Amino acid sequence: MKTGIVYHEKYLDHEQSPTHPERKERLAYTMDQLIEEGIFDNPSIKLVEPYSATIDDVLEVHTKEYVEFLMRESKKGGFIDWDTNIPVGVFEIAMLSAGGAIRAGEVVLEREVKNCFAMIRPPGHHAKPYIGAGFCYLNNMAIMVRWLQKRGIRRIMILDWDAHHGDGTQEIFYDDDSVLFISTHQMPLYPGTGFPYECGTGRGEGYTINIPLPPGTSDEGYMMVLDEIIKPVAEEFQPEFIAVSAGQDNHFTDPITGLALTARGYAEIMRSTVELSEKYCDGMLVAVLEGGYSVESALPYTNLGIISAMAGLDLSCIREPLNYLPELKFRRKESALIKLERNIDEVKKVHSRYWKCFS
Ligand SMILES: [Zn+2]
Repeated sequence: MKTGIVYHEKYLDHEQSPTHPERKERLAYTMDQLIEEGIFDNPSIKLVEPYSATIDDVLEVHTKEYVEFLMRESKKGGFIDWDTNIPVGVFEIAMLSAGGAIRAGEVVLEREVKNCFAMIRPPGHHAKPYIGAGFCYLNNMAIMVRWLQKRGIRRIMILDWDAHHGDGTQEIFYDDDSVLFISTHQMPLYPGTGFPYECGTGRGEGYTINIPLPPGTSDEGYMMVLDEIIKPVAEEFQPEFIAVSAGQDNHFTDPITGLALTARGYAEIMRSTVELSEKYCDGMLVAVLEGGYSVESALPYTNLGIISAMAGLDLSCIREPLNYLPELKFRRKESALIKLERNIDEVKKVHSRYWKCFS
């Protein structure tokens, strides 16, 4: 079965400003790289066209007041926070972005493809029910998850590996035991949330798992998180569908974060995630693009690595920008691994009340 890639040229129309980290070149350069590598000529890849989400799809996650506010401000231009303004026309593109996530879920659910990468923007994981934030307007991931649940999928595991905590997604599913939300993120970093003790409420207690990564965390550290936390919890939760909030800002060249993952590391992490989806979900897996601001040096290669891993292609084509290797050395910190071990112990301690694998 094939791997889908959702993409639309209209995703390049959104711009807060030409120098904003979340700018159109993020996707334009990735597309150039994918074309250069012949990804779209590969028989195991299928390009999937998105459609717009409907207002009803969005209202499953966001309040009517916020949707009306966004629609209204998008006509004349407006403002949410210091790094998230509302450019004219953003509402339509945000609806196409949310619809792109839904479309990815749909083609996987209908088994047109095995798994799918929604290469969309604007991103979504900081958007809360009542307000956007941090470059995000609509929570694409949450909108897709609710769409899937309305079509009979009960247990969904979200793995949010963006370098920033997925505070919007966490808030949406905080009291929900049908969605296991696992977030790995650099701490300290925007938005400042995502401590291990934030573990859900009511029926959702135990179904939010936050794993803070110290600055300087490398591929090796991330693999430890996969082995120690993510894999055992997935085994116990038995998800029917896996959805990844794929933020590529853990890369060692990312200008607004301090982690030290490589493009190859990303591909390996995705390969492990694909294995989980094969074990529990008949391979059903969607990755939704979130952040990633090393626009030229890393994002095209990390996206290529993720897609290659999803499609089971040879990963030896995944390259690092060679001249940046001293930067990797500078960013990667040995002490990060020791701090990370402590964080993992803390996560296990908090969650030993909820998960047998940690008790
Ligand atoms: Zn991010």
